[in-house]
Amino acid sequence: MSQIEKTEGIVLSKLDYSDSSKIVSLYTEEFGKISAIVKGGRGKNSKVGLVVDPLNIVNFVLYNKEQREVQLISGAEMVFYPVHLHDDFDSMKYAYAVLELLKYLTVENEANQRLYRGSRKILQLMDAKQEPSEIIFLKYFLFILQETGFEIQMDTCSICHKEIQKEKINGFNYEHGMLCSACKNLYHTFLEIPMELFEQIYSLKVGKRLKNYNLPAMKKLIIALEKFLKFHVQGFSGIKSLQM
Ligand SMILES: [Zn+2]
Repeated sequence: MSQIEKTEGIVLSKLDYSDSSKIVSLYTEEFGKISAIVKGGRGKNSKVGLVVDPLNIVNFVLYNKEQREVQLISGAEMVFYPVHLHDDFDSMKYAYAVLELLKYLTVENEANQRLYRGSRKILQLMDAKQEPSEIIFLKYFLFILQETGFEIQMDTCSICHKEIQKEKINGFNYEHGMLCSACKNLYHTFLEIPMELFEQIYSLKVGKRLKNYNLPAMKKLIIALEKFLKFHVQGFSGIKSLQM
């Protein structure tokens, strides 16, 4: 990073820092996840402080002094403000869950433009509310698992490696992932995946829009994926905003 850089980014979180400043975590298009300071950001008249708020998508001007880990935000211009999310608690919960996954599953200073663009698109879809937030979130969950090396394999059983026959009742287990109809019975805990649900997960994974869905099954799947992540990512204790 040279001294002055411009990048678009999603604001993940914001904390008070010293008497007058804020420290924020951003997921940016050009530099991945970074921390940055908004000097004077706690003041009511700080223009930058008002723009830099979680869920907002912002064009940043960053000032970087060599060998300093935290950047300084010297300019910020709003690109997208999720106006509809702010008056709907339930959608807001899922939008914050997107931010949490981004924060937990990425490392500092590692850019991934596909992940950036996908995350930006999901926040915009959630704000547009043409589909239930659960469905949009599930699509995102499968996408970010794939982008960060935890892809859920759908084609073969994770135990016997035989091809999954979708017309049978298969299973999903938090430790192993997808299990065929025979192997699923080896485990006490698994989520049943009948053909209809299997096809829906598959569609979400490849980014297709679902024509019909079973919302309670989708919610169970979100919980199963969360448990899968808890098992595989050290220090991850679940998605806090979904526990509210
Ligand atoms: Zn099997």
